[in-house]
Amino acid sequence: MRKPIAIYAQDVDINLEECCQNARYWGVNTLILSPDLFDEPELPILLNKYQLALWLNIPVFNNPSYLKEHPDKIAVSNTGNLAQQDWCQFICPSDTAYIEHLKAQITEYLDETNPDYISLDFLRQYLYWQDKSYDEIAPEDIEYGCFCSRCMNAFYHSDFATSDATAEIESREFSADFAHWRSEQIASVAKVLTDFIRQMSPNTSIALNTLPWSDKALNCATSKYAGQNKSRLSEYFDAFCPVAFSHMLPQTADDKKQLLNELNAETQTPIYYGLQVAHWRLKKAIPAEQFEIELKQNLALSKQGMVIYNYTELLADAEKATILKRHLNPEIHF
Ligand SMILES: [Zn+2]
Repeated sequence: MRKPIAIYAQDVDINLEECCQNARYWGVNTLILSPDLFDEPELPILLNKYQLALWLNIPVFNNPSYLKEHPDKIAVSNTGNLAQQDWCQFICPSDTAYIEHLKAQITEYLDETNPDYISLDFLRQYLYWQDKSYDEIAPEDIEYGCFCSRCMNAFYHSDFATSDATAEIESREFSADFAHWRSEQIASVAKVLTDFIRQMSPNTSIALNTLPWSDKALNCATSKYAGQNKSRLSEYFDAFCPVAFSHMLPQTADDKKQLLNELNAETQTPIYYGLQVAHWRLKKAIPAEQFEIELKQNLALSKQGMVIYNYTELLADAEKATILKRHLNPEIHF
């Protein structure tokens, strides 16, 4: 399989042929499309015509529309708050009915099409870092889940439960035993979903979208709070895809290079490097010069693949689109 140079194009109203043509022209070889477009009859024809691979991104526990119908399934943080912050609304990971719902949805997608890549997104415990920028986050600011009665019950009936953990949880202190159980809970969902996908679609490469924080950052928040233990999860995935949105990262190109190299060094599993066109949510611009430096770094350092966020922003920014084409596809002219 080719090394993916993928771009998120999740808008259901995009002009599909124009999107395929632009991607090919820029030198992108993979589209991360909304599954709502999978039943478009022209999709397989266009992918074939422009020689593009298809990537399906599946949000696992962040699912506001499901929570609208099933409000009782919401995760609860260590401070007792509901996991309900703007775009981030998390489902309790112990809810087995929700996993069955996800499997049914995956079945529907895979009946419609046969993606070359699937990424599992938000396959972690709920986190809320008070909307602070990376430099301002203190580990004690991070709220994490899930502490709902369903999870507490399951933990107390598990082999991980200890009297220390009970005392820590009752006094609202961090419990290493409970954190270990919450990581295992994420690993067990990862196993169930990746086994299921591999059974249905054995040739599809499966990636996990991870937090873009090194294992040691923020008091080991990735594993202790989010339950994303990369060495444990590498068993189930073909690649990790750190969600390198700039509002979650150190801002300079040098800092980002260092971070991505650290993430690469922490695991044997291939890492797909992220490239962001514009700030998501924050109103600060990413200068074209920084975009080009990051792109060149990614091309030099990532031996496995790259993911670009996103098509609509690139379409609106002719300067960055030209930079992308200059580096990825200097030859082709339509
Ligand atoms: Zn729960």
